[in-house]
Amino acid sequence: MPGVGNPESRVMLIGEAPGRSEDIKGEPFVGTAGKLLDSLLSEIGLSRKDVFITNVVKCRPPENRDPMPGEIETCTPHLNRQIGIIEPAMIITLGKHSTAYILNKAGIPFRSITQEHGKTNEATILGVKTLIFPTFHPAAALYNALYENQIREDFQVVKEELRKRGIVKP
Ligand code: URA
Repeated sequence: MPGVGNPESRVMLIGEAPGRSEDIKGEPFVGTAGKLLDSLLSEIGLSRKDVFITNVVKCRPPENRDPMPGEIETCTPHLNRQIGIIEPAMIITLGKHSTAYILNKAGIPFRSITQEHGKTNEATILGVKTLIFPTFHPAAALYNALYENQIREDFQVVKEELRKRGIVKP
């Protein structure tokens, strides 16, 4: 499942891996976590057509378990190519797996999602000058209200950064 959205978009969101609904539909974030993601985007004046959404791992891990390091390694050449084509001005990483991969690729150490979320990292990744903005995975927010508040606050920071830097006018 490669991803979906506007290839001209300046904003890319990277999740973890497709779940059952995504596997059936062939589109990222169409299950319950996707509904929350849609409302987070709409709260900052964006919709799916303004962004490109994909995952680190392109196939559904059995029983929705965490992706294994070998699976991430196998799939990331596709992700790297997508970043090279889209050249996003901002990459929003959703959850620890995409955050760890993208920060490390940019030479920025990953400590934990709790420590990295909500911060804008100016970086160059695969020759693309961009902003890396980690936040929690929307699925985490579904079972912990604390994460839900934090992810909402993080999206307000995204809105401000996009506006301030003239990337898009949400
Ligand atoms: N969770 C993800 O990380 N990606 C999806 O596409 C759906 C759920």
